[in-house]
Amino acid sequence: MNRYNIAIIKGDGIGPEIVDEAIKVLDAVCSKEDIELSYEEYLMGGNAYDVTGNPLPDETVDGCKKSDAILFGAIGGDKWDGLERHLRPESGLLRLRSELGVYANLRPTSVFDELVDASTIKPEVLKGVDLFVVRELTGGIYFGQPREKNADMAFNTMVYTKEEIKRIAIVAFDSAMKRRKQVCSIDKANVLEVSQLWRETVEEVAKDYPEVTLSHMYVDNAAMQLVRNPRQFDVMLTGNIFGDILSDEASMISGSIGLLPSASVGGKVGLFEPIHGSAPDIAGQGISNPIATIMSAAMMLRFALGEESAADRIEKAVALVLKDGYRTKDLSDYGAKEVCSTTEIGSIIADYVAKI
Ligand code: NAD
Repeated sequence: MNRYNIAIIKGDGIGPEIVDEAIKVLDAVCSKEDIELSYEEYLMGGNAYDVTGNPLPDETVDGCKKSDAILFGAIGGDKWDGLERHLRPESGLLRLRSELGVYANLRPTSVFDELVDASTIKPEVLKGVDLFVVRELTGGIYFGQPREKNADMAFNTMVYTKEEIKRIAIVAFDSAMKRRKQVCSIDKANVLEVSQLWRETVEEVAKDYPEVTLSHMYVDNAAMQLVRNPRQFDVMLTGNIFGDILSDEASMISGSIGLLPSASVGGKVGLFEPIHGSAPDIAGQGISNPIATIMSAAMMLRFALGEESAADRIEKAVALVLKDGYRTKDLSDYGAKEVCSTTEIGSIIADYVAKI
């Protein structure tokens, strides 16, 4: 029996409802595989600020660092938007990523055949898309110093060291070796010095991976190519801000932002979370789609715990549930046999997990 300690951060908005469903599915996996998970819950985000005055209490950082992996929902909401920057929910999440040293954000995007009509992109463009964004997460313009804002002027600094570029490039090439062996590195090397160093360093790392084909693309072109012909991409390697934007764009390929998982790895403990936010507009109504969080739990089993068969089991169950026509409200117009609430679809996925 393999035993793991999982830190759970439910967060704000729909966070608690989607994480509860992921735990339900993980418990179903444990009943079928030789795994035991124990959960410890921690506060982060607006709810943590309300209780402790701090969006990332020390207890959360300590607990996460001691765990084997962290499963996280989402944070944020209008209620906390007026706070000073360091007290806002997002600053808690940025700080946690930084504390954990999780410099690599992995975002797979593929299309479930049954949902090919759910995207705004034509089905013939989408069929067979299977891409994997590797985004640098702890450097670049979101963290660069100096940064300043006054009434008349504001600036941020985009900075990358060679070492930071090298380690994220290695993650991208290693990922490509397990996939179709193509890396497309995204930059703005025609304008930014940071991107020129990025490109040179990626070229150097590529020499250690002779089987992988490397191409470069400017970020503006990549934004266009993602909707023109997304099948051309295997692994997309990006810096922090470019990856933030492109991976949200890529999410529309799958039809709903409620489907896509992510993993933030590279430090001692990995953080697994859906790519969407806390969706305050639908929180508490029982209509949020928990699949992105459930798929994040599958990524956690695979990438943090090495439990490949358990991860496969969840991914197969989700695909079958969608194939059999179960949908949450965000996907109700696309082949729905039955429209389910958040808890209903979580229970159905858990049942499928236990029976396949
Ligand atoms: P969002 O991703 O929360 O929501 C965008 C749209 O998608 C909304 O219409 C929402 O209802 C819908 N949506 C999102 N997740 C869904 C799901 N699982 N099922 C069904 N529909 C879903 O983005 P936003 O509205 O720009 O931001 C809301 C809050 O979330 C803000 O405070 C923002 O700062 C925060 N945020 C947090 C994270 C994070 O925690 N990692 C990421 C992005 C945004």
